Amino acid sequence: MTADAKASMQKIARELLQSGNVQFVLGYRQVPGRFTTTPFYARTPKDADLLHWGPNCTSNLVTFALAHLKRKPARGEKLDTRPVAVVAKPCDGKSVIALLQEHQFDREKMMVIGMPCSGQADSELLESALDGKDIYGGEVSLIGNDCSIEANGKLHTIPLGDVRQAKCGECDSHNPTITDVDVGPQVNDPPGDDPPPYRDVEEMDPDQRWEMWERELSKCIRCYACRNACPMCYCEECIAEKRFPPWIGKSHHLPDNIMWNVLRAIHLAGRCIDCGECDRACPMDIPLRKINRKLQDVVKDKYGYVPGKDPETPSFVTTFDLDDEEEFIK
Ligand code: SF4
Ligand code: SF4
Ligand code: SF4
Repeated sequence: MTADAKASMQKIARELLQSGNVQFVLGYRQVPGRFTTTPFYARTPKDADLLHWGPNCTSNLVTFALAHLKRKPARGEKLDTRPVAVVAKPCDGKSVIALLQEHQFDREKMMVIGMPCSGQADSELLESALDGKDIYGGEVSLIGNDCSIEANGKLHTIPLGDVRQAKCGECDSHNPTITDVDVGPQVNDPPGDDPPPYRDVEEMDPDQRWEMWERELSKCIRCYACRNACPMCYCEECIAEKRFPPWIGKSHHLPDNIMWNVLRAIHLAGRCIDCGECDRACPMDIPLRKINRKLQDVVKDKYGYVPGKDPETPSFVTTFDLDDEEEFIK
């Protein structure tokens, strides 16, 4: 029942804001007239009433919280040094851990309100399941295993399993991976056992794979939404925008698109925590999870390393072992 978790999270947020010990509580707000949510910075105890929790809280808010902590002050501005508080699903919590592994912020600067999570709905699947019904203005919650949308005095019910995001079918942690305050109640969902998203690509022969990626990557319009949505893409100056030297051509022709997407994928190998936000943000529906998830599994198989598990474990990209396999150096 997300209603219990929502009330518990709102209470925590209200108390934090009343205490004045945090700059804001970053959570979700139901978009009026839609069934989606938007990031919401609750800054007063009253704002806490507007925080939403349900199976439509999809964004990884850690990306926004990190951007705030890394923000440079405007001229003459005195930076607020209090911590920020962020509402995080278990998969989002993995990005907090991975960022701590990479020393991107001081632990005490980000308070994590860790939410239990049975799954998040894919907004496109939800929209088509509702088949044009009058859902506008409805708030989405989870009752039992169903997404429930109350709108215009009617209750619409869709099984979560019918509209669940692909990543949730593989989820290995439905309860908080890192948390500073207990929201509860914990959920008892077993780990997901769906196959990884790249399974179909593995079954193709090299020519079919090349044809598929040529088709997919030629759609890229170089909007960089994938990068901007990614909690692990935090470089102050992205190599894609460097002009001197121009490492990656800026046109959206296939060779430059391949260079951009391969370079980004390699940059995230051993760092991507599979929050799926790049895939969700891509306006051209390029299946980016197929690439990033594959590289995550390559790193796990070769080196036994999974990012976002333990803040004390050194980051994969900053360590090496003399016994590491080097069969890729020919
Ligand atoms: S992957 Fe797991 S934690 Fe993340 S939204 Fe899906 S069910 Fe929730
Ligand atoms: S590469 Fe994509 S799935 Fe991986 S951490 Fe970044 S946004 Fe999330
Ligand atoms: S979000 Fe999609 S279209 Fe935009 S740069 Fe990334 S891969 Fe290309």
